[in-house]
Amino acid sequence: MDTVTDVAAARARLEEEKTRVRAELGEEIEAPGQMTYGSQAAAAAQVFAQQRDLAFREQAERRFRAIDHALARIDAGTYTVCEICGGPISAERHEAVAWATTCVECGRTHH
Ligand SMILES: [Zn+2]
Repeated sequence: MDTVTDVAAARARLEEEKTRVRAELGEEIEAPGQMTYGSQAAAAAQVFAQQRDLAFREQAERRFRAIDHALARIDAGTYTVCEICGGPISAERHEAVAWATTCVECGRTHH
């Protein structure tokens, strides 16, 4: 049985997620503080924390672009059309990943 994609609900979810991700991006990455601990382990831990923050930020930025892109596709009326093969994106897939722009098959091979 086919489930029809609820585009209005998807838009609401995307807007909500966008607000959340924007808030995440708005938070400043902790600036490298003064080295109060002289040990190498403390320095290594700090570098690790910075790299983790950067990776997290990159991920959030990618997510933000994907959400924006999905919203543009809703506006264009192509939200449920796979970007790669032109086939339909199932409601179940959008249920799982609201910003998906490809069908499950294409999503397996393209990221
Ligand atoms: Zn496809």
